[in-house]
Amino acid sequence: MRPQAIAAVGRVHQSPHGNPTGAHATARRARRWLEEARESVAALAGRDPVEVCFTSGGTEADDLAVSGFAERGTVVCGATEHHAVLYPTDRAGGRVVAVGPDGGIDLDALAEALDPSVALVSVMLANNETGRVTDLDAVAAVVTEHAPEARLHTDAVQAGAWLDLDVAASAADLVSLSAHKLGGPMGIGALVARRQAEPPPRVLGGGQERGRRSGTQNVAGAVGFAAAAEALGAERPAMVERIRGLRDRMEDELMAAIDSVTSTVPRRHRLPGTCHLVIDGVSAESMIVLLDEAGIAASAASSCASGAAGASHVLSAMGRDLGAASTVRLSLGWCSTPDEVDHVLDALPGIVDGLRARRSTTARA
Ligand code: PLP
Repeated sequence: MRPQAIAAVGRVHQSPHGNPTGAHATARRARRWLEEARESVAALAGRDPVEVCFTSGGTEADDLAVSGFAERGTVVCGATEHHAVLYPTDRAGGRVVAVGPDGGIDLDALAEALDPSVALVSVMLANNETGRVTDLDAVAAVVTEHAPEARLHTDAVQAGAWLDLDVAASAADLVSLSAHKLGGPMGIGALVARRQAEPPPRVLGGGQERGRRSGTQNVAGAVGFAAAAEALGAERPAMVERIRGLRDRMEDELMAAIDSVTSTVPRRHRLPGTCHLVIDGVSAESMIVLLDEAGIAASAASSCASGAAGASHVLSAMGRDLGAASTVRLSLGWCSTPDEVDHVLDALPGIVDGLRARRSTTARA
């Protein structure tokens, strides 16, 4: 978490505050904090505060959009979406559109999947495994031509930390965000929906969030989310430059030091913090364990699904048959340092050599 977010969450927990729906002074204080937080999150998304509906995170925001619109018509999504979009689409009997070998949604296949029955098209702004960024304007043009009544939703959970959403997500009617991807606390997110594109509520009860999502709001979470969003907004261009430089150096040097390594997505289509490599002749599981022992928190696929050790639906959708190869994802964040990159460069080539040597010894025996 960013220090500003930690401090902001602490300030809320340390001050007496009531339920933001109440009438007394402590409740009004909570309500003021919540509404100020809404303004900061809206500013991050380049939208109006009234469009921000706080949720428990990205998963709930995705489900609110997809399952909500499934009540109104057919839902269509891309094959590499996070399961928070894929599973509700599947449950609703929706359509899943193929992606190309570089992970980008196939616009011809999208056009074929659209008709007047479609209520929502959901295409993520950036993929959580590969970092593949979508040109949402191109997607919106296809939607406008083939299903003009449909709304466009984007899962911007990964993109929020890196891209100017005001520009990159402007074509979307609904945008999902999660605080923990941008240095805020876990357990808070938002669905930002234009007034004419609000989904029907999923959680009914006290009518909070203008009836869009009932339940007493997570005031400390929202304030922490806002503090992270403000800190990010102030430093984004410099941070993106710095992290892109570190990521490029790490990737270039790993590719020079290790034979038979490829990247899943070209850099020009990728988020600045993602390095996702395919390495021949090693087991992902052993590599991740050895990296962990070296103090490096890497993953093979996504980190936000329980039991993520299984095959990646993202790579299969891209037509990547891994055979004897494995993937490793080394994601950098706002607080990554040159020393950490050096540590990866010291550790990973030796780990790969060791695993390959062990494999060839076992094969000979
Ligand atoms: N969407 C994407 C692209 C993600 O990477 C994640 C996971 O982190 C989610 C949705 C789920 O968000 P959350 O963990 O806030 O529920």
